[in-house]
Amino acid sequence: MKIILLGAPGAGKGTQAEIIAEKLGIPVIGTGAIIREAIASGSELGKQFQSYTEAGKLVPDELVVKMVAERLKGGDCKKGYILDGFPRTVVQAEAFDRMGGEVDAVLDFEIGDDAIVKRMSGRRVCEKCGATYHVTNLPPKTEGVCDKCGAALAIRKDDAPETVLERLKVYHELTEPLVGYYKARGLVKTIDAAESLETITAKTFAAIGAPEA
Ligand code: AMP
Repeated sequence: MKIILLGAPGAGKGTQAEIIAEKLGIPVIGTGAIIREAIASGSELGKQFQSYTEAGKLVPDELVVKMVAERLKGGDCKKGYILDGFPRTVVQAEAFDRMGGEVDAVLDFEIGDDAIVKRMSGRRVCEKCGATYHVTNLPPKTEGVCDKCGAALAIRKDDAPETVLERLKVYHELTEPLVGYYKARGLVKTIDAAESLETITAKTFAAIGAPEA
């Protein structure tokens, strides 16, 4: 099962990616998480990435495409994968097609900008394993601590309100056109991402035709 998750930042793609991945036993390829790891490592490439992410801008297409092409060579991707945050532009989608990238379903998580801004203020992320939480919608068992690996939870720098507005602008301008790109191939299933986590999860499994339980 090869799945692309589309939707604005904060729509809940990362949360659904983790849930589906665990159930189907396939990896999540989250470009945002890979980029955050590179930044945390302090590498030259990471420093380059940081200037874009902290401004709410996209990292240049060629760097992200290279990263994904490398990751897809991993043996764990043979059974399938969930792309979370890639492709993010039509240029990236075309590059993905050229590298022989396959996709069975594209899930488009739809939610209004106002709800996104509200939701982002409560988002927390594990600094070590990248798992995502929300202070009210998806709280960890112990406040501030990751359920999965025990590391500390933090607020993403790019979740600052002014950066979120810039990210939404970039989303509408550069990423939203991908919905039409994949609709033309009959691959898109739209999911109302403003609903409760349980409802979104149920609709996600229904959309990919997999049992949730
Ligand atoms: P995300 O965790 O998916 O919201 O990504 C966080 C940030 O990483 C984005 O705001 C971008 O700066 C960068 N990023 C993630 N994925 C991509 C991508 N496919 N293309 C360009 N930049 C990306």
